Amino acid sequence: MNSELATAVILDIEKIRKDFPLLQTKVYGKPLVYLDNAATTQKPFMVLQALDDYYARYNSNVHRGVHYLSQQATEAYEVARRKVAAYINALHEHEIIFTKGTTNSINLVASSFGRKFLKPGDEVLISAMEHHSNIVPWQMICEEKGAILKVIPINDQGELRMERFDELLTDKVKIVAVTYVSNSLGTVNPVQEIIQKAHAAGIPVLLDCAQAIQHIPVNIQELDADFLAFSGHKIYGPTGIGVLYGKERWLDEMPPYEGGGDMIKNVTFAKTTYNELPFKFEAGTPDIAGSIVLGVAIDYIQKTGLAAIRQTEEDVLNYAYNRLAAIPSLRFIGNARQRSGAISFLVGNIHPFDMGELLDKQSIAVRTGHHCTQPVMDFFKIPGTVRASFAFYNTRPEVDALVKGIEKARQMLD
Ligand code: PLP
Repeated sequence: MNSELATAVILDIEKIRKDFPLLQTKVYGKPLVYLDNAATTQKPFMVLQALDDYYARYNSNVHRGVHYLSQQATEAYEVARRKVAAYINALHEHEIIFTKGTTNSINLVASSFGRKFLKPGDEVLISAMEHHSNIVPWQMICEEKGAILKVIPINDQGELRMERFDELLTDKVKIVAVTYVSNSLGTVNPVQEIIQKAHAAGIPVLLDCAQAIQHIPVNIQELDADFLAFSGHKIYGPTGIGVLYGKERWLDEMPPYEGGGDMIKNVTFAKTTYNELPFKFEAGTPDIAGSIVLGVAIDYIQKTGLAAIRQTEEDVLNYAYNRLAAIPSLRFIGNARQRSGAISFLVGNIHPFDMGELLDKQSIAVRTGHHCTQPVMDFFKIPGTVRASFAFYNTRPEVDALVKGIEKARQMLD
């Protein structure tokens, strides 16, 4: 535990919960227990109000207008970029590209970096615990360029086999793309070590931070990753907005991903010259409202304090882990030493879908299935898991409700 965490306070959760209107909802007449935060988080009033405010007061297109509203929207859009840059401590604001989400950010890098830098026989190194969005875009570009996708395997605990990483990191590898935190196992990967080793071999690294950015302080200059991707909706912001951070030197060298308005400097039928960063990678009208409101979600996190958020989440996660461990015939899928956010498990012979449905009837929202990580399910030879995933607004009584719900399902089905 770092010193910042050691001094962080546990948040007053009852007070926090009042910030989130959806947490007051009842499902089937009972208070909702929302444990599907890895899929998407709920939104605080501040965020909802900012969305309303944008459309009610200054909705206008950005970057192209001289009129008052357009200038206001442009200013707010660029302020949001500054907030994201500050949140991850990026060196330059123009290293922040607004995208549709993590998936879109990774597709951008795979396509653009791949078109420029991959040749037949080159390798792209990912891990066995990646979300499909950090597998398929690389498969697609590898197929197009005749490159080869290599995979760092995992062990039975759901941790990366780092000795295999060392062996796989040959001079054929042109980029390493790994997740910081696994969405299906909850594993926190040793990304510092991965980045240091890759850089020592002159290889850039993309970090999928979809499950890290809302839980763990990410200081991109300290980490020194070359690319970083995350989604707004998993960090208390809206859907449809996401971020790609890229080091200036890579973004400068990479070709545009999409063509259209805003990403150009000059267009003739003979030749088009491209705009400077970040606009080179933001073709067309962006999600103006989404970007502005993502900035407000970041304000909310900073007002609450990420260290306190983390401390509060660790408390509920440890409590959940201990209580679930006491359930007979429950087995965890993924037992990594470093964990965050999500707990995956199976109970006896109960199919995860059946467990999910019975929990739903008790107004408990968990996710079941492969969680877009089918290779992880293949590794453990299971059809899927039940996943409870936590945010700082989850409480110990909610964990108790989950445990009670599982016990009830066990009596009925196992
Ligand atoms: N990567 C990880 C680790 C995820 O958990 C997810 C979503 O669950 C994604 C990528 C894709 O995020 P999105 O669907 O918001 O693009």
